[in-house]
Amino acid sequence: MLPLPAVLTDFFSLIFPRVCLGCEASLGRGEEHICTDCRAQLPYTDYHKLPIAENPLAQRFWGKLPVRHSLSYLRFLRHGRVQHLLHQLKYQGQQDVGRVLGRWYGHELLEAGFASAFDLIVPVPLHPRKLAKRGYNQSDSFAEGLATSLGCAWHAAALRRTSYTDSQTRKNRLQRWQNVAAVFEVADTSGVLGKRVLVVDDVLTTGATLEACAAALLAAGAFEVSIATIASADR
Ligand SMILES: [Zn+2]
Repeated sequence: MLPLPAVLTDFFSLIFPRVCLGCEASLGRGEEHICTDCRAQLPYTDYHKLPIAENPLAQRFWGKLPVRHSLSYLRFLRHGRVQHLLHQLKYQGQQDVGRVLGRWYGHELLEAGFASAFDLIVPVPLHPRKLAKRGYNQSDSFAEGLATSLGCAWHAAALRRTSYTDSQTRKNRLQRWQNVAAVFEVADTSGVLGKRVLVVDDVLTTGATLEACAAALLAAGAFEVSIATIASADR
């Protein structure tokens, strides 16, 4: 089928307006999912450009686990575009948010010298009950986008949850750590053995979830583990 002439595309977008997943402004011609303004205004961390000793995200894992690269594309800010994007990704079925941000971030990482830094990208898994309810894991699309840009493999089922975790929201910091300890296990041991694995999630708050995943991967024989999230909250 031939592509629609621009006049028809414009006509269709009058009837079915395409809006930005970050700010809900109408998307212009050539804009896909996230508008140019949002792309320019998003609060990028640029942690991947910092020496490890100066990376505030890396510092959170010091003395706990050897994490090779600690990466996060955006700073998590409430009531802004980042929260809106993550809400669309997690609760409105907009997996394009993860794919687009993953592809953009992957390009940036490539340019910063991460071209062959990882052998495998692994999303933090949802509990099967939650997965069944939501229909998708919001971290999968981010893993897919990153893998596309970095030219690297990703494996949605490399990790699995061992038990159901209660909502984290009413727990204090220590209880959250205890809650996620031993919650993850490696489902595909031969797939991670000797690999440099990048574990990805949508948001990093305490870091406990990613730390538990990294611990499971290292215990299963991964060569080294790095972490990357779409956004991270300041402590
Ligand atoms: Zn926008």
